[in-house]
Amino acid sequence: MPPPKSGTNAAFGDNMAGSAMPSLRRHTLLRILMTAATLLPAAAASAGAAGQAQVYSSNQSSTTQTSGPESPLPVFEMHSGFWVNLHHFLYLQARLLKGNSASTETTRGAAQPDELPVSLIDFPAADIRAWQDAVAFYSKDLAGRDLLLNGDMEIINNQLSVMEACSELEGKSTPLCKSGLRQDLVEALERAAPVYRAHWWAQQDRANREWIAEVAPMIQKMGVELSGQLADVYQRPWPSQKIRVDVVWYGGPFGAYTSLDPIHLTISSHDPRNRGVYGFEVLFHEASHALAGAVTAAISHEFRERDKPIPRDFWHALLFYTTGEIVRRDVEYGTMTFTNEQRNGSSVYLPYAARFGLYSGSWEHFRGLLDLYWLPYLDGRVSFDTAMARLAADM
Ligand SMILES: [Zn+2]
Repeated sequence: MPPPKSGTNAAFGDNMAGSAMPSLRRHTLLRILMTAATLLPAAAASAGAAGQAQVYSSNQSSTTQTSGPESPLPVFEMHSGFWVNLHHFLYLQARLLKGNSASTETTRGAAQPDELPVSLIDFPAADIRAWQDAVAFYSKDLAGRDLLLNGDMEIINNQLSVMEACSELEGKSTPLCKSGLRQDLVEALERAAPVYRAHWWAQQDRANREWIAEVAPMIQKMGVELSGQLADVYQRPWPSQKIRVDVVWYGGPFGAYTSLDPIHLTISSHDPRNRGVYGFEVLFHEASHALAGAVTAAISHEFRERDKPIPRDFWHALLFYTTGEIVRRDVEYGTMTFTNEQRNGSSVYLPYAARFGLYSGSWEHFRGLLDLYWLPYLDGRVSFDTAMARLAADM
């Protein structure tokens, strides 16, 4: 959820080989009010991750599906991978051990994990030593790094995510399992792996799968429609390939993050903010990071034109506002129907940023301006350029 590294937006076009849904993009924004009755098959079938990746499908069987007994999810490709979960869990444990080094996590939307380091009481002595060694290794350096903004952490996450079917990371079993990661990191992960597998993985994997099973029906029903709506709004094609999502127990202080080269979404199944429809909104907020190019370009153009400083994170507030508003409409107009539980018990849908207190300080001001000048664009009443110009003029 934090902003991508500077410069990544400039290269983001490389990921956009073309739109998966060209016809959707021509529709007007008023489609937001329409019912999505059909489930389009994903336009670009995933190439299939070397036959070894575990890709989850919706549990829901549907009489309308046309493609075999399992209906793959559109838009996203969901994974619950062993190594990427272990990596984030060690990262969390190392940070918890550091205690209140929370000063770096006062960023908007950041939350301290509300838990204690795992208890090792009654573990075999060898397990305790192996686990503590691995946590100590993470504490030394990696735990102080940002999961997204640090390039090494991004590479580690990307590499481990594709190793999910591997029993080791050095390529001893098959060359496909040679991670290419630093030897000391590989050793720490391999040392911790049997302990993690014996004590925590089954429970965390189950939580990840349950989380996927909860969002899957929403993605089946609305994923294609919503991706088309967001591509329309942001004037960028939705990625032609399904977006890889790694569901992890711990997903950093924001509960989710997205790196752009390649587009890779990591989201926590355990973060209480990601429950129900909010998990669905967060997925699309995260995916929107890959579509933000026209927005960031227009913001810098309009502010430079007026010789005004570009307000920090304004583009990110706009992304939150937009996804939240579109999901709210889909809920309100019945395009999506949810159980009360999926709505987290609420009868109306309060978008994520409002629900979790992101609109404070400068963001409160941003929200007022977005209500005034961006909402008319989402309603189809003014053009993208007009909305951007008015936002910059009144900021
Ligand atoms: Zn974000």
